[in-house]
Amino acid sequence: MNEALELMHAVARKLTGQAVTIRFKEPQTSRPANAATCKGLDGAAVIDIDPYWNRPDDELFRLFTHELAHVVLHLGIMTPVNVTIASAVYHAPSKSTDAVTRSREAEAEALADKWRKFAMYGWENHYRVHRSRFISMLKALLYDYNK
Ligand SMILES: [Zn+2]
Repeated sequence: MNEALELMHAVARKLTGQAVTIRFKEPQTSRPANAATCKGLDGAAVIDIDPYWNRPDDELFRLFTHELAHVVLHLGIMTPVNVTIASAVYHAPSKSTDAVTRSREAEAEALADKWRKFAMYGWENHYRVHRSRFISMLKALLYDYNK
């Protein structure tokens, strides 16, 4: 998993333009979630992914790109939290309504979908070397994707 986690950090930096910390740690969310994005007191993004969540790589890739899209689109409106004590808190501010939450989720999905489509076309070139679809999709985004 170390190579994957290193690549995830590199992809996060490329797609969001900033350093993002990715942790395999249970997200603290108001509703059950497999992953969550929060903003630390220093303003930097932290993504927590449930370490007990055992799903195929494609679903991890889907989840990861979705959270990265939240960093790009919504980090600015998140309330900073102490990420060394708390795990990530749910990315929607508590005041927001369900409608606002839904529209943010849709925005994140639209951006993540663009990245995923690119990775789906480009991963096979990397697969010849890496033999892992997940690693290959990350490499496609890291080396071939132009924003
Ligand atoms: Zn979301």
